[in-house]
Amino acid sequence: FAGPLERVDSCCYRIPKSYRADMRVDGLIFANDALIESVKKDQAPDQVANVATLPGIQGASLAMPDIHWGYGFCIGGVCATDPAEGGVISPGGVGYDINCGVRLVKTNLFWDDVKHHVRSLVKGLFHTIPAGAGRGGRYKFDAVETRRLMAQGPRFVIDRDLGVPRDLTHTEADGLIPDGDPDQVSDHAVKRGAEQCGTLGSGNHFLEVQVVDSVFDADVAKAFGLELNQVCVMIHSGSRGLGYQVCDDALAAFRNCPAKYGITLPDRQLACAPAESPEGKKYIAAMRAAANYGFTNRQLLMQQAREVFAAEFGRKWEDLGMELLYDVAHNIAKLEEHVVDGKRKRVWVHRKGATRAFPAGHPELPDVYRAVGQPVIIPGDMGRASWVLVGAAGSMERTFGSTCHGAGRAMSRTAAKLQAAGRRIDKELESKGVIAMASSRMGLAEEQPAAYKNVDHVVDVVHEANLSRKVARMRPVGVIKG
Ligand code: 5GP
Ligand code: MN
Ligand code: MN
Repeated sequence: FAGPLERVDSCCYRIPKSYRADMRVDGLIFANDALIESVKKDQAPDQVANVATLPGIQGASLAMPDIHWGYGFCIGGVCATDPAEGGVISPGGVGYDINCGVRLVKTNLFWDDVKHHVRSLVKGLFHTIPAGAGRGGRYKFDAVETRRLMAQGPRFVIDRDLGVPRDLTHTEADGLIPDGDPDQVSDHAVKRGAEQCGTLGSGNHFLEVQVVDSVFDADVAKAFGLELNQVCVMIHSGSRGLGYQVCDDALAAFRNCPAKYGITLPDRQLACAPAESPEGKKYIAAMRAAANYGFTNRQLLMQQAREVFAAEFGRKWEDLGMELLYDVAHNIAKLEEHVVDGKRKRVWVHRKGATRAFPAGHPELPDVYRAVGQPVIIPGDMGRASWVLVGAAGSMERTFGSTCHGAGRAMSRTAAKLQAAGRRIDKELESKGVIAMASSRMGLAEEQPAAYKNVDHVVDVVHEANLSRKVARMRPVGVIKG
């Protein structure tokens, strides 16, 4: 990136809007002095500047410290637009994997209870849960059922005994984004989704057995039900082929929108339409329906993990304390109320590789977490660590209630594959105490720990910026990868 990056404070840099005549607002990148060096080598800051040109954008074009290059918008990006000012909605600002996200399942088991079971658990998980691009699973729904599932979210499968009502209140938006319309989802998308609910998907998606290895905030950890050496299961997946197809369909439908609505774009991949236009409304309705499919997919993945644990330990999953801590979306656009320049507004918050991080007291939080703040689940990589954070007040002041979503890639997939030539990533992981099984060895190479930034450094930034605060750190012990 050749443009200006002005240091705002120890955890934030600015691309001033004077950098380019077409920027409507500044770009702000949350990073410390060490992380910003790697950010500069990437083209992602140009993407932050590009997003700053979108009609109706509010505040600033934002990026979290896990920023890296993505389709049109960078990953780790947050952008809010005001529909009352012609603000746009953009599929690229949500991403192809609509409602990709993470959930964390607790257990009442500790490391000593599990350490002799890890290999068997990982095998059980790998043989039970379908993984890999395009793979179908054991839950098959016809087109009518798949549309009903999108209208109801996880409740649809919980009514069929695949979970408990408590799972819903521990999911963002109670597992149901309102005003989704499955009839706006194409038949082709529905067809892709019908066989894939309850499957992991490709390489970056995973299901991981983790152990809490440090607690940073004892009070919040207690409220979340987390303690040292406790075993949990982290699940990362999205809306599979269905969400992908919804995004693809929308990009095709939006092709002529810039001309039609007089929008000049610096990059075709920023394709967008006014949120209140017919094209915008159609995408929003389909995107919300696909998001509900994403929550349901993670519900079915969790349910399969519960079955595997139950079989391994010969006890019911309820007796193993396998409660959902929380489920968060990190690829989504939501209509939320925020204060912008002293005015309360309803804005379209696009989070693409960014997590909602509402602080204590926020009315949209479930009762159980309103007093402490929203749990934020941050995967890191399969060799080092992952985190649980809690939403903090700074997010409402600076980032439209958002924080990072992971470590973020430090290497392209191609570079990671080259680095892994002649190596056995699974053996390397095993020597560090992590049992890994993947549907493809190439996938494991692309996903090796060094392909990602150090999540501890990313979390340091969002903690210091008070977007979200450290609660607990987990280390991986077993993982299955798509
Ligand atoms: P994304 O949704 O952008 O593909 O991935 C989110 C984040 O998940 C990545 O930035 C990375 O930090 C993290 N991640 C990817 N693979 C793994 C894994 O196998 N284990 C853990 N714990 N985190 C991972
Ligand atoms: Mn994701
Ligand atoms: Mn995804």
